[in-house]
Amino acid sequence: MIREFIRIVLTVTFIFSFVENLSAKTGEAGNIQIIHAGALLAVPGKGPMANASVIVEAGKVAEVRAGFVSASDISSDKNQTVEIIDLRDSFVLPGLMDMHTHVTFEFSRDQQLRNVTVSDEDVTIDGVVFARRTLMAGFTTVRNVGAPPAAIFALRDAIAKGKVPGPRIIAAGGGVSPTGGHGDINGYRDDIFPEPSHSGICNGADDCRRAVRVLAKGGADVIKFVATGGVLSNTAAGTGQQFTDAEMVALIETAHALGRKVAAHAHGVDGINAALRAGVDSIEHGTYLDKESIRLFRKTGAYYVPTISAGVTVAEWAEIEGYLPPSMRDKARRIGPIVHATFARAYKGGVKIAFGTDSGVSKHGLNAREFLFMVEAGMPEEEAIKSATINTAILLGRADQLGTIEPGKVADIIATKQSPIDDIRQLQKVTFVMKDGVVYQAAGE
Ligand SMILES: [Zn+2]
Repeated sequence: MIREFIRIVLTVTFIFSFVENLSAKTGEAGNIQIIHAGALLAVPGKGPMANASVIVEAGKVAEVRAGFVSASDISSDKNQTVEIIDLRDSFVLPGLMDMHTHVTFEFSRDQQLRNVTVSDEDVTIDGVVFARRTLMAGFTTVRNVGAPPAAIFALRDAIAKGKVPGPRIIAAGGGVSPTGGHGDINGYRDDIFPEPSHSGICNGADDCRRAVRVLAKGGADVIKFVATGGVLSNTAAGTGQQFTDAEMVALIETAHALGRKVAAHAHGVDGINAALRAGVDSIEHGTYLDKESIRLFRKTGAYYVPTISAGVTVAEWAEIEGYLPPSMRDKARRIGPIVHATFARAYKGGVKIAFGTDSGVSKHGLNAREFLFMVEAGMPEEEAIKSATINTAILLGRADQLGTIEPGKVADIIATKQSPIDDIRQLQKVTFVMKDGVVYQAAGE
């Protein structure tokens, strides 16, 4: 753990020195950074402007001005440090946000064994590595919807305090699932995983209120539940509705009463529509959504979090002999090939879309591949960027702080060499990352 920590500190220190020590004093009151942007997409959806300056003070955006302003234009105070960050050759945009990650974990073919050999401490360290990778890929905020609660809360808090580099984490802790459902730990002797396998397992409306309250008490920022079966659970339970309507209503009401939004994992249309009727804030995956789902999405204002990357990844695994147990392989074969079409249907239907990948199924750091899948399925480039900035900020209830480069917002700013509006693949090659006014990556290092 110490070795890993030192490596991270050294890496970050190296990056700081690489950008002329400009980060050493960031985040402190009285220090100003001026980003000179060759192109600036301050508000995705409103188009980029050429040659602009972003003035950052104490980790927040203070001002956006046309042209390249100099230090003396900003301050005559000799005690104030003004640093210029030269991105005149780059395209600058708000930090990206992923609404569906599992940052403490990457699925592998020995997953069933790892479930009983890996400790929460191991998982936490993995999270430190994957969180850094995610940040360096340009993702400054993630919503993590499933991890051992103690591990993800420790990681979230350590990142927030600046102890380790990573994206701002909005954490669900564990997921809420019925016994034998997608979020249970299936396929083991009951002396290894006794029932209930974790505190998020609940059956019946009252018991589900308890499960939500326990998660909130433990530090969950958001509640995730499994409305339907899922691909990567070792059970032949299909992908239809798993919680009853009454259980869904109870757990969503309870979460809302405790000030938490609710994300529902859902593939089958019965579970998607039941969760929407019960007042869920977002549907994750949404594989078999239909006309009625689209009507409900539009009526309730819920977001759809597509996770096309997960469908593409499991479809690849299904073709590798022995990679997945038979129950997972069957589900992967059915769901993988149809996720692009689901996305196209939802987008054309006018459903609000918030970017999400299910990274942990796909590899961490490849989150931006999702943009390519979205564009391939018919979404214009700038709208895809909006889905990962403005839309995600609204879904999190943090549009006053995140999602655009405007005065008063947190200084989460990234850059690419070429315009991602011309070529969306540019987002897979982020060359500059600032979070809370701290530079984590510059010059593509
Ligand atoms: Zn997931």
